[in-house]
Amino acid sequence: MLTYLGVAGWPVAHSRSPAMHNAALAAVGRHDWRYLKLPLPPDRFAETVRALPAAGFRGINVTIPHKEAALALADEATETAAAVGAANTLTFLESGAIHADNTDVPGLLEALRVDPRGRTALILGAGGAARAAVYALRSAGAADVMVWNRTRERAERLVRALGGHVVDIPEPAEILVNCTSVGLRETDLPFKSLPLEADRLGVGSYVADMVYRPGGTPLLAEAERRGATVVTGLEILVAQGAASFERWTGITAPRTAMRTAVDHHD
Ligand code: NAP
Repeated sequence: MLTYLGVAGWPVAHSRSPAMHNAALAAVGRHDWRYLKLPLPPDRFAETVRALPAAGFRGINVTIPHKEAALALADEATETAAAVGAANTLTFLESGAIHADNTDVPGLLEALRVDPRGRTALILGAGGAARAAVYALRSAGAADVMVWNRTRERAERLVRALGGHVVDIPEPAEILVNCTSVGLRETDLPFKSLPLEADRLGVGSYVADMVYRPGGTPLLAEAERRGATVVTGLEILVAQGAASFERWTGITAPRTAMRTAVDHHD
């Protein structure tokens, strides 16, 4: 009998997670496991997820717009998922309970490759990705976490829940994480839409972009040109996927195979 994993979202057609996880399952010899796309509209999410264990599912990733609903339906949650207020990973336990985790948090910290302790950080955005990033950097000991968002009121709500402080005109920071969707379209101009000056990105700073697209994002291209250490959205995707994979299977995720699979996805 096959064991299933999957990603639930609405829409989910463009997700790279199936390619990444099926490559991982093949690389570790789990030939009787499959990772599927689960397109679920919000009004069908909870009832469908509750039916998945009986259909052979071990766990699922959850993406837009279901991350808060995933936490709400779980019977138990990690401290991280509860603090962020959202789950991206559900595991169906043998007891019948549904366990929620948020691997976007350890995923970002793993992909960053720098210890945030004592460093200043600037988070752009105030949506789900920004919540995970603020929690990640604060829990890892960043000295000062600034949050900027186009809609200030949303940033204020975020810092009330998770800490950090809202800025209108950010100071340069040692760690910059773009958690807005600016950069997703080829025509996006990050240095027009975001409060960034290209000449303040440079050697000694770490610039991470949650956004990934073929050919990379203009923010990372400019940061790299100026000598910053850059972290791509695909590196973050692989790291969060690896943490989910390890929770479901109990074995170390084959990160190189996962990275190759997402790189070759169109
Ligand atoms: P979300 O909850 O919809 O938040 C979107 C954010 O982008 C908001 O802060 C929004 O500001 C801002 N924004 C949108 N258009 C903008 C513009 N033209 N100028 C300035 N700000 C703008 O989305 P999310 O879940 O946080 O995801 C954000 C991005 O991260 C998406 O591209 C997503 O694909 C990516 N992501 C990647 C990973 C990964 O593993 N690499 C994981 C999670 C998310 P307002 O509040 O003002 O609307």
